[in-house]
Amino acid sequence: MTKVAVLGAGINGLACAVRVKEKYPNIHVVIIASEFTPNTTGDGSGGFWYPYLCGITPQDLLCKWGGETYKYLYGLWREGGHDLCLLPMFELYREKRELVTHSWAKDVLGYRILDEKQLSYLSGLYSVKYVSGRTFTSFIAYPPTILAHLHRRFEAANGQTLQYRINSLDDKKLDDYDVVINCLGLGAREVVPDDKVVPIRGQISRVIAPWVTNAVMDEDSGNYILPNVHNCVLGGTHQTNDFNRSIVGEDTDFVLNGCSQLIPGLKNAELITQWAGLRPGRESVRLEAEQRDGKLYIHNYGHGGSGLTLFWGCAADVLEIFDKHLTEGRKQNAKL
Ligand SMILES: Cc1cc2nc3c(=O)[nH]c(=O)nc-3n(C[C@H](O)[C@H](O)[C@H](O)COP(=O)(O)OP(=O)(O)OC[C@H]3O[C@@H](n4cnc5c(N)ncnc54)[C@H](O)[C@@H]3O)c2cc1C
Repeated sequence: MTKVAVLGAGINGLACAVRVKEKYPNIHVVIIASEFTPNTTGDGSGGFWYPYLCGITPQDLLCKWGGETYKYLYGLWREGGHDLCLLPMFELYREKRELVTHSWAKDVLGYRILDEKQLSYLSGLYSVKYVSGRTFTSFIAYPPTILAHLHRRFEAANGQTLQYRINSLDDKKLDDYDVVINCLGLGAREVVPDDKVVPIRGQISRVIAPWVTNAVMDEDSGNYILPNVHNCVLGGTHQTNDFNRSIVGEDTDFVLNGCSQLIPGLKNAELITQWAGLRPGRESVRLEAEQRDGKLYIHNYGHGGSGLTLFWGCAADVLEIFDKHLTEGRKQNAKL
């Protein structure tokens, strides 16, 4: 009987564990992780569907993984009760750019490059002169709710969990497993090891601002405003190779002053939390199979600023690799 260990209980580990366990209820699947929700990177994240800081991951893969995740969120939104919102977003530039249409434009609602009239309207709304921009309609999650939902789904399918810190892929804890699905995020840097994985530090604030119902990203200043069901995320920094998880006063000023420049009323919004997290940056998402010492490893890490944007589609590809492995195993057994 095949035994599967999923390493990591972030959004990617949970999605893979759910997809494998729900398709193969008789296969033993355990999630092994040092931290579970609400203490993973995704829990603190903005929760916004938007391909961001994922290096040179090929556009066709962003399209496939992102498109499938967008559709999955669509379904959850229709069900209700998952703390998901569907809202317009504006990606705006202070300097003139020749913006091309993203490969994933056809997979989202209402995608458009903004014309001069629309930009002039938005410049009035956000008190900054914007000269280029895009808009589309996207989903924003309150991340702990979606992570808890996936965790419950996995447990309801009789999936097992184990809190444990893995030292390497040769860790004795993995001896009993034939298939290891590696969703360690930044942890892959040490465990694989893979020095292409680097932290991209992000510091954000959460405020109460229920009148804000659009997402805005000022691509030239780096500030962004992402309202969700419970609060409004103000961002943000993206400092590569910075491992500092503490709040830095200078970054707080950058976030609060920068976002208040866009929407002056935010100055009076109640500040409820601040958080600094480390995105698992990599030149490109690593999603591939590797055979090592008779064991199948399926790597799925390095999602940068897009874990909540790509997770369901990436888990579909992981499942496909796993399906193929089972089919080949059956064929070989039949020959014996
Ligand atoms: C400020 C900020 C804002 C963000 N906003 C967005 C956004 O709006 N939209 C979006 O799509 N993405 C966003 N992201 C990025 C997103 O959070 C990540 O891409 C995503 O969380 C990665 O998920 P993961 O499951 O791969 O890794 P993680 O969530 O980091 O989970 C890794 C798992 O592996 C475990 N682990 C690691 N090392 C070990 C070990 N040695 N042994 C055992 N277990 C281990 C951890 O405990 C954890 O369970 C943001 C990130 C930050 C920091």
